[in-house]
Amino acid sequence: MTGNVPGVPWRTIEQLIGPVLPELGCDECFEVLDTYVELEIAGAPADAQMPLMGAHLEGCSACRADHDSLLALLLSDRGEQHDR
Ligand SMILES: [Zn+2]
Repeated sequence: MTGNVPGVPWRTIEQLIGPVLPELGCDECFEVLDTYVELEIAGAPADAQMPLMGAHLEGCSACRADHDSLLALLLSDRGEQHDR
């Protein structure tokens, strides 16, 4: 193993700028995903109420795909329930 690898110092950068936003992990993201989607469906400013979710969905394509499919699922459910 090489003892001294010059990599991108992400941790150093984090220490320099400080914890601006606590990162939301995929697990936490998944736990509140349904709440977030229901806010969106209800027309609430989900991004404003859960800014960490919005930021995570921006940067995480896996969670974004989960979000999109959950949103589509809930919307189709509502569509059937609110059959005019
Ligand atoms: Zn994620």
